[in-house]
Amino acid sequence: MNFPKFKYNADPIKLKVIVQRKTCCPVCNKERDYAYQGPFYTTAAVEGICPWCIADGSAARKYDGDFQDIASCERVDSPGFLDELIHRTPGFCGWQQEHWLSCCGDFCAITDYMGWKQIQQLVEEFPEQTRADFEQLLKDYRISEHEFKTASYDHIQGYLFKCMHCNNLRFYTDCD
Ligand SMILES: [Zn+2]
Ligand SMILES: [Zn+2]
Repeated sequence: MNFPKFKYNADPIKLKVIVQRKTCCPVCNKERDYAYQGPFYTTAAVEGICPWCIADGSAARKYDGDFQDIASCERVDSPGFLDELIHRTPGFCGWQQEHWLSCCGDFCAITDYMGWKQIQQLVEEFPEQTRADFEQLLKDYRISEHEFKTASYDHIQGYLFKCMHCNNLRFYTDCD
C-alpha cells in the first residue's frame, strides 16, 4: 500500500511524527507498518493511528480530534485548506505549541526542523524571503543582527516552511 501523500507535510517520517513500527491502528483495525506519534488534540487517549487514517480523515472523525491547534494556525483564504490541515495532515513536534505558517492565502508545507546553524544559513542564503520572519526572531529574543550572526543559541529551534505557490521560505522559532 502506497504511503499517503500529505500536501502540507511531505515527509512526516523525517519530521519524526510517523515512525516505522508495527501497529494495530485503532481506527481501521488493520495491522500497519507505520504509526503516528505527533500531536493530536482529542479527549480520547489514542495511540498508533496509521497514516492512511490521517489522510482520509477517518481518525479525526472517529475521535473528533484535530492534528493542529486551530488557534495557532495563520489565516488562509479557504476553509477547505484549514479542514485539510487540521483533520487530514500529520502535525510536527515543536518544543512549544506548534504554529502553522501561511503564504499566498494557503498554508505552507512544513519541511524541516532547524538548529541554530541552519537558521543562520537560511537567513544568509535567503535574506529577502526570510526578512519578516527574521525580524520577528530578533524581536522575540531581543538580539541584534550582529549577535544573531556571531553568537550561538542552542536553546532555540527553528521550523522551516515552504509556500507551494510561490516557493517562498518562511520560518519561526521557539525555545526550550
Ligand atoms: Zn488506520
Ligand atoms: Zn507564497
